[in-house]
Amino acid sequence: MAALLPGAATLGVLGGGQLGRMFVHAAQALGYRCIVLDPDAISPAGAVAEVHIKTDYLDSFGLAQLARDCDAITTEFENVPALALQTLAGMRVVAPAAAAVAVCQDRAVEKAHFEAAGVPCAPHAVITNDIELAAVDPALLPGILKTSRMGYDGKGQVRVSTPAELAAAWADLKRVPCVLEQLLPLQRELSVLVARGADGQIVHWPVQQNLHRGGILAVTEVPAPDVPAEVDELAVNAARQVAAALDYVGVLCVEFFWLTDGRLVVNEMAPRPHNSGHWTMDGCEHSQFELQVRALAGLPLPEPRQHSAAVMLNLLGDLWFTEQGGPTPPAWDRVLGLPGTHLHLYGKTEARHGRKMGHLNVTAATPEAAHAVALRAAALLG
Ligand code: ADP
Ligand code: MG
Repeated sequence: MAALLPGAATLGVLGGGQLGRMFVHAAQALGYRCIVLDPDAISPAGAVAEVHIKTDYLDSFGLAQLARDCDAITTEFENVPALALQTLAGMRVVAPAAAAVAVCQDRAVEKAHFEAAGVPCAPHAVITNDIELAAVDPALLPGILKTSRMGYDGKGQVRVSTPAELAAAWADLKRVPCVLEQLLPLQRELSVLVARGADGQIVHWPVQQNLHRGGILAVTEVPAPDVPAEVDELAVNAARQVAAALDYVGVLCVEFFWLTDGRLVVNEMAPRPHNSGHWTMDGCEHSQFELQVRALAGLPLPEPRQHSAAVMLNLLGDLWFTEQGGPTPPAWDRVLGLPGTHLHLYGKTEARHGRKMGHLNVTAATPEAAHAVALRAAALLG
């Protein structure tokens, strides 16, 4: 495919959330027009795109309009129906492909892909019926029962310690297909972002260290402190291998558990830019969103060099609520008085507990300096 040149093409995105919004911003900076398809009348990406098609993801008129008016189309969340991507693929360049997104939509299929790519994941069992439930190896307990589909931010997960708890948890989850994973002793959580072009060229960003609170990403630090060179190399190679084995086109994030015994296992992957890669907007020469645009348009993918140490703080709606009540916006004027702070808000009008409202990137010449400012910012945010 010839490259879609900046200033002379229109890019489409399925999904109107914050990832779509940051994709649109990056695409527009390069001179592309953007069209977002999202059923919600008000959405973070729909508000900034040149055109917002407000139909369901499987609406044939909406999809036809998107295909007619866009030169290439991507997605900003993995739960967009694979059928929507397939339908569009018959008409336009679509990246990532429906088949790759479908692998990421199902934990059981995803784990089979990791194993086929030669990348170890957590010991697990797939549970879709009573026979599989009864056959679960007790060595997998204590474990975490996860719905195979539609889980995010720790939703659709239950910790279980005994076969009886497992059976009860599966009944609570309405007996939908699930994966039981052994509960692993985590030393740290890491992730690696890669960008891959249709020609197979692949680049990666440095290993990211992630801290979750209540199943939701809270803090990402890059460089990842204290990660030995061999673990770093294993993570990067595994992410590149996973992307290549999928013949993936676009930006892909692979999440890892670094265990207390030093082993590295893959957790899951996302077929799109990732919350743990938001620091790249200010800490790197090229952000994950810029390379998502470039991969889609068939433009060169530069090695994304990190120029600053970075800490990203996720800004959840909880920050809008204090003991005095709320919602009221945090004291951004004070936070932005700190050196190296970059605020990104997603344009969501209603703050809710657990809702991702934005993120704050802190950049500095050294990891220690970035860390120190991030601590001060967190203290100001309360
Ligand atoms: P989600 O799709 O909601 O992000 P994950 O599978 O990544 O789901 O799980 C969310 C978090 O739960 C992980 O980031 C990790 O902190 C914890 N977790 C998940 N699986 C395991 C496991 N097998 N062992 C220990 N902790 C786990
Ligand atoms: Mg996760």
